[in-house]
Amino acid sequence: MRIDLHAHSNASDGTDSPAELVDAAARAGLDVVAITDHDTTAGWEQAAKALRPGQTLVPGAELSTVSVDPRTGRHVSVHLLAYLFDSTSVALVAEQSRLRAERRTRLRGMAERMAADGLPIDPDEVMASLPADAPAGRPHLAQALVRAGKVVDVNQAFAEYLGNGRGYYLPRQDTPVETAIDMITDAGGVTVMAHPFARSRGATITPEVLVELAAHGLTGVEVDHPNHDEATRAEVRGLADELGLVRTGSSDYHGTNKTIAIGAETTDPAQFEALVARATGSPLVVG
Ligand code: AMP
Ligand code: ZN
Ligand code: FE
Ligand code: FE
Repeated sequence: MRIDLHAHSNASDGTDSPAELVDAAARAGLDVVAITDHDTTAGWEQAAKALRPGQTLVPGAELSTVSVDPRTGRHVSVHLLAYLFDSTSVALVAEQSRLRAERRTRLRGMAERMAADGLPIDPDEVMASLPADAPAGRPHLAQALVRAGKVVDVNQAFAEYLGNGRGYYLPRQDTPVETAIDMITDAGGVTVMAHPFARSRGATITPEVLVELAAHGLTGVEVDHPNHDEATRAEVRGLADELGLVRTGSSDYHGTNKTIAIGAETTDPAQFEALVARATGSPLVVG
């Protein structure tokens, strides 16, 4: 059984429609694929309708959260994968809606800074190109830079303009990670910390934070991810086993916004079963 538990559609910052994502998963020989758009469940329905016989969809999302160290006050961004939760949970719907609004304000701010510096970016046009209530992300601004001919691809846009620590990066008011775990748990779902030690993306959490979150009800951790090298995978695997966390592997596919192929990393079937066994909020969708 081939299982990929982390993929983005154009309901957030991927380039495939949810139906195309499901098709791509089938072509890659996946039996199980999760749809995990940033801060939205808008793609679930279309993805479910596109399933072929034998294909299974795991409804999910990737929540934008933050870990705050109470001793130092240091903020670290945490991407929290959530699966099989009740998407109508009132608290969750309200928080995700707040975050999408926050994402738009922040992306407009970044676009305005670029325009003020004379870069070929029209903030109104960038925002107008996004569907209403879509979770705006830096890849959308990267695409605008590609369209303007300023960079050759999304990667170059991140390296020169949009990456953490670059001049145009603006932070967001993300959900405290403990609150997000509570909301998903209350909605019957399970949580997996995405790419915990992807150091190339910026500051990462310390192992102590993982210990605390495991005690707080975190279900699992992404071990095999394109941004984890071999040593990092071994480190995360060791921590997961110590803390009794489910171990996943996933591509974090974004269509052509990234070079990674769907199914390039996969999850062990026994680990997947352990994850599903703890969820009660919404069922797997079978084609
Ligand atoms: P945001 O959610 O707006 O902070 O943007 C983060 C998104 O950009 C994540 O989904 C990443 O997958 C994507 N991203 C981060 N770094 C890069 C990069 N170097 N090249 C392409 N995409 C990236
Ligand atoms: Zn993304
Ligand atoms: Fe992520
Ligand atoms: Fe992702």
